[in-house]
Amino acid sequence: MPNRIPEEVAEALEAVWTLEEKDQATLDQVFAESRATISDELLRTLQDQKLITLSESGQVSLLDDGRVLAKQIIRRHRLAERLICDAMGSHVDDSEDAACEFEHILEPGLTESICTLLGHPRYCPHNKPIPEGDCCRQAREELKPIVVSCDQLRIGESGRVAYLCSREHARLVKLSNLGIIPGLPVKLLQKWPSYVVQCDETEIALEAAVIREIYVRKTGIKK
Ligand SMILES: [Zn+2]
Ligand SMILES: [Zn+2]
Repeated sequence: MPNRIPEEVAEALEAVWTLEEKDQATLDQVFAESRATISDELLRTLQDQKLITLSESGQVSLLDDGRVLAKQIIRRHRLAERLICDAMGSHVDDSEDAACEFEHILEPGLTESICTLLGHPRYCPHNKPIPEGDCCRQAREELKPIVVSCDQLRIGESGRVAYLCSREHARLVKLSNLGIIPGLPVKLLQKWPSYVVQCDETEIALEAAVIREIYVRKTGIKK
């Protein structure tokens, strides 16, 4: 696959991706949506290169290779929109043309840097999903929180109570009466039909609303 795909190919793939999201990927719509002029010749090239397929009824679909390319283009475009809106303070309506320019000059490495700079955004300013990159997956792995609400522990996973966070004083008192105070080791035993945690030797059943107010520092899985 060539490093840089021709602009009209990029625009056509982008149009198909966007229309597929809206479930409107027909040939007529592709012609209407695409910013570059789509010629019959271009369509044939896209089919020959196995990037798209065209059904009898005029439905256009991305094939695997086309989808991979389109995903990268869409990712660059929507990240560029975020960059223009968030970092440069432009209004979302003014971002479109600039984003189209930008998407062609963003190299893969630069795309990752911008994604990281922007905090790996999930959505563009139009609320359309930004396809994930390697950097996003990596960040999610590295930044796994160590303090979570107790209901987020996996069954069998242990932690120590870090703090209690309740807006109701009575509930805080109730929890501490149960012996649930910071520093206490807890292990999640069950989530259904009710939450059950083990604290020292005692098993305590807790309502969902209550267990969510107990924040624990994870210590791992023990048998
Ligand atoms: Zn957008
Ligand atoms: Zn990212």
